[in-house]
Amino acid sequence: MADVKDYDVIIVGGGPGGLCAGLYSARANRKAVCLEKYLPGGQIAITGEVEDYLGFEHIQGSELAEKFTNHAKKFGLEIEMEEVSEIVCEGDYRIARCASGNVYRGKAMIISTGGSPVKLGVPGEAEYSGRGVSYCAICDGAFFRDQVIAVVGGGDAAVEEGTYLTKFGAKVYIIHRRDKLRAQKIIQQRAFDNEKVEVVWDSVVESINGDDTRVTDLTIKNVKTGETSKLDVGAIFVYVGFHPNTGTLPDSIKVDEGGYILTDSRMETSIKGIFACGDVRAQLVRQVTNAVGDGTTAAVAAEKHIEELEDKAANRV
Ligand code: NAP
Repeated sequence: MADVKDYDVIIVGGGPGGLCAGLYSARANRKAVCLEKYLPGGQIAITGEVEDYLGFEHIQGSELAEKFTNHAKKFGLEIEMEEVSEIVCEGDYRIARCASGNVYRGKAMIISTGGSPVKLGVPGEAEYSGRGVSYCAICDGAFFRDQVIAVVGGGDAAVEEGTYLTKFGAKVYIIHRRDKLRAQKIIQQRAFDNEKVEVVWDSVVESINGDDTRVTDLTIKNVKTGETSKLDVGAIFVYVGFHPNTGTLPDSIKVDEGGYILTDSRMETSIKGIFACGDVRAQLVRQVTNAVGDGTTAAVAAEKHIEELEDKAANRV
């Protein structure tokens, strides 16, 4: 028989949105738990440097994640290391079943599961994963000190993390499929100003090649000329976007064409009593700033939802 743990608010995922939602729920005197399968902090915990979160001109992602976590815990948010395997509704209860066998039952649930990196899907990627293919510069950058490193992508993550990797690499190639980067202008400029960075324009990676132990080179193709060439590198960091983590959600929850959860302006999903915040939610911008804003709104809306349930139970409406 599974152990059922009762809470007011269950938060699934401990990124900035989830932790901020937890802070607000706990400060509303609600019994709130955040279920996180790794360490809390989400993408920010594995981001090198953050300098666009108001009030922090420059802070390591891991340090900011720790501050978020400690702040939420200080006000009473419980954080449990749990992998949620299924989310279901039973009457007014919103229930998270975990791989551990534990079951968490809440009056409201906030989904803050973020996203996972998109893979390139080229030969060699899976084979050399962990042996020169990485999706996390802060985790793996130091392994490639003084080597030539490639980064794929043209968004904020690729250009920012590519610049970060110059701390370790002798040279960093940013391989982008177009002739214009998508990243914010200030992030682009910092890369252009760094003499270790070279952008390889209009190019895609066709294969990741290596020997028995590690990556040695890439086959890249110029999409304008059709020419292929070899680029000698010791590592390749892939930053070609991410997809939302929605695998555990009920099928009836509405998502957009990219799989991101649709919410109203109160962060409520198509299922009453289930709210969503941060990168998993369909929205234009994916920044820490709006994740914490979403988390705030979701927690306040969840509180109103619980009050309505309580009023209903007390026959006051
Ligand atoms: P993104 O903005 O979706 O950018 C993905 C990049 O990868 C694009 O340049 C795209 O090219 C390229 N790409 C996609 N599929 C590809 C493929 N198969 N082969 C080669 N290139 C491919 O993703 P992201 O950079 O991971 O960022 C995700 C979200 O987090 C964004 O909203 C971003 O603003 C946010 N973020 C913000 C910061 C920050 O503010 N400091 C840092 C990191 C992330 P095209 O440009 O041609 O589409």
